[in-house]
Amino acid sequence: MKQGKFILVIGPTGSGKSMLMKHAISLLPELVIPYSYTTRAPRENIVENSHYKFISVEEFQGLIDTGEFLEWAQYSGHLYGTLRSEVEEQLSSGRTLLKEVEVQGARQIRKLLPKDQLLTVFVSAGPWEGLEARIRARAPITEEEIALRKQRYEDEITFMEEADACIENIEGHKEVANDAFITLIQSVLN
Ligand code: 5GP
Repeated sequence: MKQGKFILVIGPTGSGKSMLMKHAISLLPELVIPYSYTTRAPRENIVENSHYKFISVEEFQGLIDTGEFLEWAQYSGHLYGTLRSEVEEQLSSGRTLLKEVEVQGARQIRKLLPKDQLLTVFVSAGPWEGLEARIRARAPITEEEIALRKQRYEDEITFMEEADACIENIEGHKEVANDAFITLIQSVLN
C-alpha cells in the first residue's frame, strides 16, 4: 500500500495559511485534517471550529501525561496539540494529512516522522513591514500587541529555510498562491 504523508503548513499570522488551507480542503476532499486539541475558546467561525477540539487545561495536561500527543505547544497563552493515534492511523492507511501548526509543533513532528512521510510548507507573505501595514489597517491594535506580533513573525520566519517548500502569497495575487499550493498537494496525492 502507498505510504501516507503529513503536509504541515507553517507561516506568520496574516500570511494566508488559513486561506490556502480552506481552498485546498474545498477542492481536495480526500485530504484528512487532524484535529487541533486546544485550551483556547472557540471562535464564531463554525467551519474553523470543526477542526478543533476545545478542552480544559486539566484535560490537556492529562493527554500530555499519558503521552497521547504527537506534538504540542504553547502559543499566545494557549495550548495546542495533535493526537499521535489519529496521525499514525491515517498515515498507515496511506492517507494524506494536512495541518496548520506553529513552528515548535512542526519541529517536533519533523523529529518523529520519517522524512518521506512529511512535507513542510512555509507560507511567506513578504517582509514584516507589509504585514504590519495590513494588521494595522484591519483593526485597531496597541503598540504592545504589534511588538508581540513582530516577535512571533521573527520566530516563524526562521522556519522558512528549514521548510521543504515555500509558497509566496503576494498581496493581490492570492490565486497564484492557491494554484501553487494545490499543485504541490497534488504532487503528493498522485
Ligand atoms: P489559532 O488559535 O489562531 O487557531 O491558532 C494559533 C496558532 O496555533 C496558529 O499558528 C496555528 O497554526 C497553530 N496551531 C493550531 N493548531 C495547532 C496544533 O494542533 N499544534 C500546534 N503546534 N500548533 C497549532
